[in-house]
Amino acid sequence: MSMYGVKEWGYGFFGVNSKGHLVVHPTRDENLSCDVFDIVQHLRKKGVDTPLILRFPQILAARVTELNEAFHKAMREYDYAGSYQGVYPVKTNQIKEVVDQVVKAGYKYRYGLEAGSKPELMIALSMNLHPDALVTCNGYKDETFMRMALLARKAGRNVLITVEKMTELPMILKVARELKVEPLLGLRFKLNAMGSGKWESSAGDHSKFGLNTQELLEAVETLEKKGLLDSVVELHFHIGSQITDIRRVKTAMKEATRMYAKLYKRGVPLKYLNVGGGLGVDYDGSRTTFSSSMNYTIDEYASDVVYTTQDVCAQEQVPVPNLLSESGRAIAAFHEVVVVDIIGLIDTTHTKYRVELTGNEPQVLKELAYTRDNLSVKNFAEMYHDAITQKDELITLFNLGYLSLDDRAKGEILFWEVCRKLSKIFSYKSLKYIPEEFQDLSKSLADKLIANFSLFQSMPDHWAIDQLFPVMPIHRLKEKPTISATLCDITCDSDGKMEKFIDLKDVRDEISLHEPKGGEPYYLAFFLTGAYQDILGMRHNLFGAPTEAHVVVNEDEDFKVQQIIPGDTMDHVLRSVHYDPDELVEGPTRRRQNKSDAGEALKALLTQQRSLPTYLDTNER
Ligand code: PLP
Repeated sequence: MSMYGVKEWGYGFFGVNSKGHLVVHPTRDENLSCDVFDIVQHLRKKGVDTPLILRFPQILAARVTELNEAFHKAMREYDYAGSYQGVYPVKTNQIKEVVDQVVKAGYKYRYGLEAGSKPELMIALSMNLHPDALVTCNGYKDETFMRMALLARKAGRNVLITVEKMTELPMILKVARELKVEPLLGLRFKLNAMGSGKWESSAGDHSKFGLNTQELLEAVETLEKKGLLDSVVELHFHIGSQITDIRRVKTAMKEATRMYAKLYKRGVPLKYLNVGGGLGVDYDGSRTTFSSSMNYTIDEYASDVVYTTQDVCAQEQVPVPNLLSESGRAIAAFHEVVVVDIIGLIDTTHTKYRVELTGNEPQVLKELAYTRDNLSVKNFAEMYHDAITQKDELITLFNLGYLSLDDRAKGEILFWEVCRKLSKIFSYKSLKYIPEEFQDLSKSLADKLIANFSLFQSMPDHWAIDQLFPVMPIHRLKEKPTISATLCDITCDSDGKMEKFIDLKDVRDEISLHEPKGGEPYYLAFFLTGAYQDILGMRHNLFGAPTEAHVVVNEDEDFKVQQIIPGDTMDHVLRSVHYDPDELVEGPTRRRQNKSDAGEALKALLTQQRSLPTYLDTNER
C-alpha cells in the first residue's frame, strides 16, 4: 500500500510532494498540482480556521467528463446505435456551487438533473441546462410536485416524471388534463436483481419504490386507454447505491433490458433505459467487493452497461434504447476534503512518573514492578495475565483498607507501565501477528487523538453505517509515524470517534500518525466526503457546518480561493432550534436588579460569540 493508500483510493486526484505535504491534482494531470498544506496555511492567515471543507470544483468537472466520456467510448467501441445522457441526482449534494459546477461541466454532454422532492425540483428547474438535457423527477410526489413538473414541461423544459407507485398515475393524468399538457413519463420497475453492499435493499420485490410486473402492465393499459401511451418514453430501475460487484450490474442490465424489449414489443414507444445510480467509489482503494470498495472501474461499468443492453436487444430484435444514468456518489465524492486539526491526546498509559520501589512497599506493588521489569516479547502473554491478576488484587486490597492512596496510585502507574511496554511489543515488525486475545487490548492501548470536528456533521455515514473514509495527515509525511492512534471528535457523545481505518487487505483498528508537537498544528484530512455527507450531517451538540473554501488550481502550483463560505455561527445553530439569540444574550442578567461587572462582561462575551463558528477556537492554544 502506498503512503496511507493515497495512490490506491486517491485515483490520481491526490498525492504527496517532496516536502512531505499532501497535493491535489484536480484534473488527474500530474503536472497540475497544488500543495494542500499551503492552502490551509493561506486560509489560516486570512483568519479561516479548521475544521474546514475544501472544495475543488475542477474535480467535479473532471468526474462529469470522465463519466460521459466512458459511455461515449463504450458506445463507439460497440458501435451502439443509441446515445448516452446522464442526470446528476441533486440529493447527492445540493450545495449551489456543486450543482452549478456539475451543470456547467455537463452542458456539452446534455447532462441533466434528477430531483426527488419539490425543493430539489426548484433547484433543477432554475439551472442553465442544455436545451436537450433532461430533468427527471423520482421519489414520492404529491399533486403540487406534479403540477410544478408539468407546468415546467408546458413551458418547454424536458421534465420527465418517473412513476414510482400506481397511485401517482391518476394524479398525473388529472393535472396533465387540467393543464392541457402531454406528460413525458417513465415507469420505474422493481427489478428482481439486487445491488450489493449496504444499499442492496433498494431493489428487489420488497423495495420501497417501483412497480412490479403486473403493475407495469396495468400502467401501460391505463395510459393506452387514455391515448397517452406515446408519453411513456423511459423504463427506469435502480439497484442501490455503491454497487461493489460488477456482476450485479451485468445481472441487473440483463433483466432490465429484457423488460425494456418486451415492453417495446408490447407497443410502448420507449426511448430511454434509465439504469439509475449505484456506480461505486473505491473508498479504501482495495478494488474488492468490500462495502467501502468496488471491483470495477468507471470504464468497465460503462462498457458492461452498453454491451449487455446491445446484446439483449440483438437477441430480442428491438432497437437499442438511449441510455440514461443517475450516478451521484461517483460524481460528487472526490471533490471534497475535510481538514481538521488535532487539539489533544488522551493517553491513559502515558505518565510522567516512573515508579521506583524502595523495598518497603506492600507485596502487590513489588509483584507489579517485577512484571514491568521482566515483561518481554518472549513472555508477554503470561506476564500480562500476571499483571491483570495483580491489578485486581491491588483494588481488592485498597477496598479492604489495606493500601494507602499513594500505594494505589503507584500500583496503577505500574500497571500502565506494563501496558506501554506491551504496546511497544505490539508495534515490533518481528511480531508477525497479535494473538486474538490481545487484539482488543492493542486497540485500547492506541493513543486517542482529539480532533476539532464533529463526526456527526462531517462524516455521518461513518457513525451510522460504518462506512470507511480515507484519513491522512496533510503534512509531516516525510517523517516516520510514531504513534498508533484512534480519533475522537469534540462532541459529548462517546460514539463520536473513529476506530476503523482503511487498509488494502483488512480494516485497521488504528491509524499510524505523528505525535503532535507542542505549539505546532497537526492537520489531518478526511477524503471522499463530497457525496451525501454534507446534507446528512447533523448538528449534534449544536456543532454546525464548518467553513468552506472553494479552491481552483492554476499552472505553476498556484491556486486561487474562489470563495469562502463561513460556517454556521452560534446565532445560526441556536435559531435552528428555535431560540432567539437576542433573548439568550439578555437571559443570564435579565432577572438581576443591579448591574454587576461580571454580568456585563458575560453579556459582552455572549454578544461577541454570536457571530462566530461553533467549533473550538484553535487560535486560543
Ligand atoms: N437514482 C436513484 C433512484 C436513487 O435512489 C439514488 C440513490 O440511492 C441514485 C440515483 C444515486 O445513486 P448513487 O449515488 O449511488 O449513484
